[in-house]
Amino acid sequence: MNNSSLPLVLVTHKLPKDWLTPLENHCRLIIGPEDATIFSPKFMQYLHEAEGLISLLSINIDKELIEKCPNLKVISNMAVGYDNIDIETSTKRGIPVGNTPGVLTEATADLTMSLLLDAARNIRQASQDAIEGRWKTWSPAKWLGSDLNGATLGIIGFGKIGRAVAERAQAFGMKILYTDRCDPPTTFLSAKRVPLNNLLQECDFISLHVPLTPETHGMIDEQALKLMKPTTILINTSRGAVVDTQALTTALQEKWINAAALDVTDPEPLPPHHSLFCLNNCLITPHIGSATFNTRRSMAKLAVENLLAGLEGKKLPNCVNPEVYQSK
Ligand code: NAP
Repeated sequence: MNNSSLPLVLVTHKLPKDWLTPLENHCRLIIGPEDATIFSPKFMQYLHEAEGLISLLSINIDKELIEKCPNLKVISNMAVGYDNIDIETSTKRGIPVGNTPGVLTEATADLTMSLLLDAARNIRQASQDAIEGRWKTWSPAKWLGSDLNGATLGIIGFGKIGRAVAERAQAFGMKILYTDRCDPPTTFLSAKRVPLNNLLQECDFISLHVPLTPETHGMIDEQALKLMKPTTILINTSRGAVVDTQALTTALQEKWINAAALDVTDPEPLPPHHSLFCLNNCLITPHIGSATFNTRRSMAKLAVENLLAGLEGKKLPNCVNPEVYQSK
């Protein structure tokens, strides 16, 4: 079949083939490499013709790039966060931007609890000691960690993932404090909303679930870290830049706080041999919050649905800049 009349769609990264099957017969696809962090010159040559773009968070869709795509009708980001995209420029250009909320909530909440448990109980370090022959006998005072039962968890950003973490934490017997811009849609179990500084001062565990915005960028800085207790464990599965990396490194080195467990970092990835990799009290995973088979497949499905709707000029099922439709 001669499909040259079909719209051209750029997919910034190689994805499993069957995730893109629903696009067959609807568009021509140009697919980038699996590990792209920038647009290759080969990819750039198609920008002028592209009508659709499927992107991942590891690539920046900035003003300059959007301006190189005069025919672009839709940007579909396979993520719930969309801080990698210049939304203002997209909106000015009338380009709807799609994301994939909801389907990754449970997987990311599970990962958050995994990090919290690992950091609380030194699982990684204890396992390493066992593997490397430092497990001589049952030890009464070695590998001691922190209890979850009775501890207070502070959740910053009480949206879908923050609330899913709270549900899990309550099953572990934790008390929940949270901070958010407004109250959740329904009253939530026994979680209590408090001002940010109270949360920072009072909590044994603090978990970050805000989107990355100008307001949340660097929210956990030196001042915030100094307000935390020396026993506090910080978990970040939101975006790396919500935390000031240098301040966190110092806080962990100088024991202002007990430990951190990070699924996201700034920069991402951290360069090899970064100080954070060298600290026993810092656990780092490579942004795997949504990395389950079912979740990633569901994210791809939503991304494809957003893309197809955009190509057809219909409203995206999940649009982050619905104001584009006001002018249409
Ligand atoms: P969500 O439902 O939109 O929740 C975010 C919450 O943060 C909302 O309640 C929001 O309030 C609140 N918020 C925004 N700015 C705030 C501020 N300055 N202070 C306090 N609260 C603020 O989003 P979600 O689905 O839970 O996802 C949260 C973030 O997690 C995403 O944006 C993404 O960056 C990250 N994420 C990471 C992974 C991973 O792989 N590690 C996976 C999924 C998501 P409003 O409703 O008033 O805006």
